[in-house]
Parts: sequence; structure tokens; C-alpha cells
Amino acid sequence: MDDCIFCKIANGGVPAKVAYRDERVVAIEDVNPRAPSHVLVMPIRHYGTIADLADAGDAALMTRLIEIATRVGRERGGKHGFRLVVNTGPYGGQTVDHLHVHVLAGRPMSWPPG
Ligand code: 5GP
Ligand code: ZN
Repeated sequence: MDDCIFCKIANGGVPAKVAYRDERVVAIEDVNPRAPSHVLVMPIRHYGTIADLADAGDAALMTRLIEIATRVGRERGGKHGFRLVVNTGPYGGQTVDHLHVHVLAGRPMSWPPG
């Protein structure tokens, strides 16, 4: 998508600190971290939301996103653990309409979220 900031980042047109990349998935450091470690794991191909990816039926990509997010969470959180978040749609608090999994680690997280 031409006007999507995460498409531009995923395709290298806009710089970001890349934590991981393979042929289908990229992980970047969040520009406005909400925890000592805050990484965004996203598909390189544009999907607006996780519901759009579910509709597309690409189970391998869905699995890959969670696998990579879990790997990053383990690396960053160690024995203390981590949190995965997928904000979806306006009530879900999504502000960038390109599917991404937040990986938050490095401090205790509160519950419930705001
Ligand atoms: P959302 O609110 O959609 O769940 O999360 C969007 C996240 O993307 C926010 O945590 C925000 O800080 C991050 N973000 C927005 N624009 C950029 C950017 O240009 N570069 C990076 N690295 N992160 C961004
Ligand atoms: Zn996009």
C-alpha cells in the first residue's frame, strides 16, 4: 500500500531499527517504546488487521508472526516473561492500519489494559 508507513518500513523505504527479518516477516523497534523493550512484529505484505489476515486464510503467516513474536519476547523478557498485544480496529486502539504484534518486555505489566 502506497500510503502505509509500515509497508514503507517493511520494504526499506523508511528507516527503522530492524530486530529481525525474513522473507515474510519483519520486526522493528517501536519509535515510541512503552516498555524497556518494545518491538513490533509485522508481515511484509500489507494486511490491515489480524482479522484481514484470518480472512485471507494464510495460516502459515499467522503462525510465523506469533512464532517470531514469541522468540523476540523470550529473548527480551527472559525468565520474567513478556506481553504480546495485537490492537485491532478503533476500539482495539489500533493507530497504524498495518497488522503488527507488539512485543513488550522489561517491566511488570498491569491488567486490565486501559
Ligand atoms: P498501534 O497503536 O497501531 O497498536 O501501534 C502502532 C505503534 O507503531 C505505536 O506503538 C507507535 O509508537 C509505532 N509507530 C508509529 N509510527 C512508527 C514509525 O514510523 N516507526 C516505528 N518504528 N514505530 C512507529
Ligand atoms: Zn502496510
